[in-house]
Amino acid sequence: MLIAGAIGAVIGAMVTYLWRYSERQQHTVDEPTPVVPAGAELVLSVLSSSAVLIDSADTVVKASAPAFAMGIINDDRLEPDELMGLVRQVRRDGQVREADISLQPKRGTTAYIHARVAPLTSRLILVLADDRTREQRVESIRRDFVANVSHELKTPVGALNLLAEAVGEAKDDPEAVVRFSSRMHLESERLTRLVQQIIDLSRLQNDILSDDATVVKIGELVSEACEHSATEAEHKDIEIVTSLEPDLFVHGDRAQLHAAVSNLVENAVTYSPSGSRVTVTAQLTDDDVRLTVTDNGIGIPGDELDRIFERFYRVDPARARATGGTGLGLSIVKHVAASNGGSVEVWSEPGLGSSFTLVLPAHNEDMEEEHA
Ligand code: ADP
Repeated sequence: MLIAGAIGAVIGAMVTYLWRYSERQQHTVDEPTPVVPAGAELVLSVLSSSAVLIDSADTVVKASAPAFAMGIINDDRLEPDELMGLVRQVRRDGQVREADISLQPKRGTTAYIHARVAPLTSRLILVLADDRTREQRVESIRRDFVANVSHELKTPVGALNLLAEAVGEAKDDPEAVVRFSSRMHLESERLTRLVQQIIDLSRLQNDILSDDATVVKIGELVSEACEHSATEAEHKDIEIVTSLEPDLFVHGDRAQLHAAVSNLVENAVTYSPSGSRVTVTAQLTDDDVRLTVTDNGIGIPGDELDRIFERFYRVDPARARATGGTGLGLSIVKHVAASNGGSVEVWSEPGLGSSFTLVLPAHNEDMEEEHA
């Protein structure tokens, strides 16, 4: 026991001496570049975070490649002042600190990092940084979406509320009651459509093909879409003409594809003048089915074309109130295309009309039969 204790004490003293000696070495011999503790470099290189080591003169002694790519190092200095401030605080009191910091790696772009700063030795401070730009973007889209949804829902709900009051006050005027109740009907339809589209869209967010994928006949999708808009088209005396190559199939989620094609035909009818014509064509080009809906309607200005696929975006919000548009239709079309391995193209000219093309990978029925 005694001998074991003595050996332990000697080893302890040696370790303490060696540690002090190495510290002294760092102070005296390696004054300009402090020694990075053995093993630390290996540990830092396997971390997923970007790592930077800062000496007591605020100089970057070592940095991993992602740290440079992240834009937190300029020459041999740590770039954002906020991060440097954190390093100095840690150096003063030895407390580990964390912070979320935004930076501008390039003019006009903002990146977000989560930084963790800790003392590594008496002279070296370790900064670990993780890129959180994507998470921030997703979170801000989610916040915008929730804010937009609540705003958009409030409009028809508010209108219903007012109309219900108006009906109550007009109980002695049967004509007014009929008028108000038909507007209530319209608003409740708008609300139902909005809720349905919000549900459709939230299901589509990941742009992943759903488990319900089946072989879908393009001809069926088109006739259902035309059927869906038939009443409105008839009302506006719009003729819907179809020209489809026979036996075109795609492999995808039927309900989603139905929603996308119906939205395109519905928009063509909505944004076309009375007495005009809407054309739906579908053909096989290379290995893709190209389904195009063309109208001779109001068209879309060139600078708006990029934006119409955004959620809740409407070229003319005042007009949208009249047409009952939600601004979600094309956003659904875009996500359906992406989830089903395709894309959507648009051509439009104000005053001339618009043409939307859904491009989807074709499904070869012969192959299906061979496998069966
Ligand atoms: P909405 O429910 O308002 O129609 P969409 O997302 O389907 O929403 O369309 C977004 C906007 O794009 C519309 O508000 C409209 O301004 C414009 N748009 C869509 N399709 C057409 C079209 N065929 N012709 C003209 N403008 C269109």
